[in-house]
Amino acid sequence: MKTRECDLVVIGGGLAGFAAALEAAEAGLEVILLEKTAQTGGSSAMSGGCLAFAGTDLQRENGIEDSAERLFADLVEVGKGECDEALVRAYADNQLATYQWLRDKGVVFAPVIEAASGQSVPRVHNVDPADMIRQLELAAKASGRVEVLKQTRARRLLRESNGRVRRVLAEQGGESLELYARKAVVLAAGGFVHDRALVHRFVPQYDNAVFIGGEGNEGDGLRMAWALGADVRDTPYIKGTFGKHPMDENNHHACLAVYKGAIAVNQEGRRFVDESLSYKLLGDACMQQSYGVTYQILDRDIMESGDNRVRILDFERRLEEGLFVEAESLEQLARLIEVPEEVLLAEVAAYNQAVRDGQEPEFGRRHLVHQHGELRPIERGPFYAYPSTAAVFGTYCGLCIDAQMRVHDVFGAPIEGLLAAGEVVGGLHGAAYMTGSALGKAAIFGRLAAATAQGL
Ligand SMILES: Cc1cc2nc3c(=O)[nH]c(=O)nc-3n(C[C@H](O)[C@H](O)[C@H](O)COP(=O)(O)OP(=O)(O)OC[C@H]3O[C@@H](n4cnc5c(N)ncnc54)[C@H](O)[C@@H]3O)c2cc1C
Repeated sequence: MKTRECDLVVIGGGLAGFAAALEAAEAGLEVILLEKTAQTGGSSAMSGGCLAFAGTDLQRENGIEDSAERLFADLVEVGKGECDEALVRAYADNQLATYQWLRDKGVVFAPVIEAASGQSVPRVHNVDPADMIRQLELAAKASGRVEVLKQTRARRLLRESNGRVRRVLAEQGGESLELYARKAVVLAAGGFVHDRALVHRFVPQYDNAVFIGGEGNEGDGLRMAWALGADVRDTPYIKGTFGKHPMDENNHHACLAVYKGAIAVNQEGRRFVDESLSYKLLGDACMQQSYGVTYQILDRDIMESGDNRVRILDFERRLEEGLFVEAESLEQLARLIEVPEEVLLAEVAAYNQAVRDGQEPEFGRRHLVHQHGELRPIERGPFYAYPSTAAVFGTYCGLCIDAQMRVHDVFGAPIEGLLAAGEVVGGLHGAAYMTGSALGKAAIFGRLAAATAQGL
């Protein structure tokens, strides 16, 4: 069997893996990064590219007042008290430096413009996600200290007699490879959107949802750590993102017209939820409706308020692609989408009346998204419907770690030598999800894992 030695073995070539590898290399560590598939990038490269940062120059340029404390409070609120506040603190305290670090590596951020799910002020910092990974990979290679082994799948973590994780057993082109890590192993192998058996074990209600993510994300990281007694958390909170068109094979991003004022109705033509909630909670609510398929209903004003710089708000592109159902009147729209005409008309009328009267429409909706934006009536034709189901873009739950990114076992003790970052870890999101916090978590926690490894 071939053997290799380095300071740090990183398993997974997505954002968390490259953040860890590059940060470690900059501190002088020799790193070998294993990527199971032929391409680096994982879910990170195919994501919407939204990262949640607070107190940045880009926010200030748009007159947005934000701070690490506000971000902390929002994350705790969104997580409904189910998140590990030590991890939320680690995110809040290290996010601004990570934003700057990414910029220093050549990652380009678009202006901050919209509040999104779970954000009390706009803090989506949007990037081209594939380019972000490319920049980090280039910088990692340019450091001369990071070797990337593609098509190399980590299979097992091996411990020494004192319990410390030191070696990784991997498979490369049908041959075994053993890697010895002088400092530590970082698990950055992503989640398990492509392991339906694992998803079924935790959230069987999502059996019929759409699953999208990096092709290598099959729960390897979880399993390798489980084999050593690692604990997991947040498994009941895997949720699909609302707004995926059930028939659209080309565009895997959600469309969230609700965050610009659309309402969501089910096959019976009735609203069923406060549409300003986190799109993960909307996803849950959607999956409880008949067939798990609902419609976002909007008018011309809402359609025109879309923003083609943000994928989830790019209504124009979806209109051009024929994904919206369009009608001159609400009656005609109801007929086209085959929901009871009189019910839909009554729902829209009641909603519009409440908005005009300054009252809360049913389900307690008070804002467009989270605590942001004034409600608007749906009244000016043409009218549109966007068929929407929930798509699981990430599994969000995962390994129990502490604020140093050390993986803990089922008795709460750290597993020596084993660190983890990114989607493979649980604890940050808790019960729901703030837009941009999964990529944020990958970058911030990846760097923190590298910082811990330096001290080992
Ligand atoms: C369509 C879509 C849109 C999204 N949009 C956003 C967004 O806008 N904002 C946001 O915050 N989050 C978003 N997410 C979620 C976010 O992209 C992920 O949570 C995040 O990228 C995870 O980063 P990661 O580095 O942990 O994992 P990944 O980027 O998935 O990388 C993990 C890598 O590990 C590799 N791997 C797995 N097992 C092994 C093994 N045994 N050996 C070696 N390598 C292995 C995989 O092949 C993969 O390349 C989105 C996800 C999707 C799918």
